[in-house]
Amino acid sequence: MNFYDSERMTDLLKPHGYQLDDNEDDADLIVLNTCHIREKAVEKTYSELGRIRVKINTRKEKTGKRSIVAVAGCVAQAQGKEIIKRSPWVDIVVGPQSYQNLPELIAKVDPVNKNKNINIDFPTVPKFDQLNANIEERGPSAFLTIQEGCDKFCTFCVVPYTRGAEYSRPLKSIIDEAKQLIDVGVKEITLLGQNVNAWCSKGLDNRNWGLGKLIDELAKINDLKFIRYTTSHPLDMDIELIKSHRDNKKLMPYLHLPVQSGSDNVLKLMNRKHSAKEYLKIIEKVRNYNPKIAISGDFIVGFPGESEKDHLLTISLIKQVNYAQAYSFKYSKRPGTPGSVFLNQVNEDTKNLRLHEVQELLRSQQLSFNKNTINSTMKVLVLKKGKKKYQYIGRSPYNQSVYFSSKNENLIGSFIDLSITDAFQNSLTGNILSDF
Ligand code: SAH
Ligand code: SF4
Repeated sequence: MNFYDSERMTDLLKPHGYQLDDNEDDADLIVLNTCHIREKAVEKTYSELGRIRVKINTRKEKTGKRSIVAVAGCVAQAQGKEIIKRSPWVDIVVGPQSYQNLPELIAKVDPVNKNKNINIDFPTVPKFDQLNANIEERGPSAFLTIQEGCDKFCTFCVVPYTRGAEYSRPLKSIIDEAKQLIDVGVKEITLLGQNVNAWCSKGLDNRNWGLGKLIDELAKINDLKFIRYTTSHPLDMDIELIKSHRDNKKLMPYLHLPVQSGSDNVLKLMNRKHSAKEYLKIIEKVRNYNPKIAISGDFIVGFPGESEKDHLLTISLIKQVNYAQAYSFKYSKRPGTPGSVFLNQVNEDTKNLRLHEVQELLRSQQLSFNKNTINSTMKVLVLKKGKKKYQYIGRSPYNQSVYFSSKNENLIGSFIDLSITDAFQNSLTGNILSDF
């Protein structure tokens, strides 16, 4: 989602004379878009700020030019004052619901008085209504935020506090943006939301539509070929969406459905509002409708109160699901969340051991999922060139990176039929069968 927000900031600032530059050495404006989900991400914000300070000081000494520095994202939202206290040279602090105001905030930066611009409100007018920036360029694959915020309040998670209440973007605004993306050459769209499948809005027939219907509507756009969505919550996995995985050929056979733990005790402490069995039932149902679907997930190890028995239940759930790919994290205390003050915090050594076990198992499942695709044929969207001569990198329907070679110079954005020749931990290789 931060990646999407950064792209929208770039779109927004273009008419004001800014263009994107990967190199901070001579940048007039540096925007640090930050993440607050785990402590490590927050630490990174402060270490990045230290690095940026050196860059802007060097530029000032060499050229006399002053760079404007803005901190955006969820750390800005949660720790705005702390950022200014620790780094008083930062000019702007802007939250994820307010970045549509960046042009005005930049215009207000006063090099003499050094007034700080802090804008971390949750505005009543959703930012999308004000984000009418023109989209000029994207690669073949783009993100599109359709839902933000969360009302579920899992006891480990900071999202409801930093991204605010659950909000679904209206249908028209989503379709308009999808069409804009297609007009600049996008072929694949990934719909984004903290709980993307909680999306709900008035449909074209004036009835309430859920994500399944939205995907079916988007699939009517001719040049949009692949549709994905992330991240889903088990409680919002309705039958319409599950059916789309069977009936809608543009919806990719991939489902990221986090469960966090395989133990009902821990799920309860986490306030996930579903049991392990209920999660497994959903997976079974999804597989009944689309047996080939690749399942992905998220796990937290070492949540306060997690016993060895609870941990083994997580291992057992992973074995039952057999994931194509998944993310796993050590529990990280987040300020202001109930979990951070729970007694029975798990010690670091135990967390490390459990994470290692979970990750080894998930890695072996991922490798066998990848190996099982050898000798199959896949339609792959070509995303970019690889490092080697004639090499390209594409994405498979199952969200795998696929490497292949071609002397054709213009394949980016095409769909190519590949025969899969080999498989590794995080990628596949293939040979071209034909273009379409
Ligand atoms: N809405 C999604 C997840 C969004 S947050 C859901 O409910 O499933 C993305 C992931 O970050 C979570 O799935 C969780 O695995 C991880 N995460 C969130 N807070 C965390 C914390 N305090 N410590 C460790 N991992 C965390
Ligand atoms: Fe965080 Fe997801 Fe739980 Fe919401 S549902 S509080 S985003 S983990």
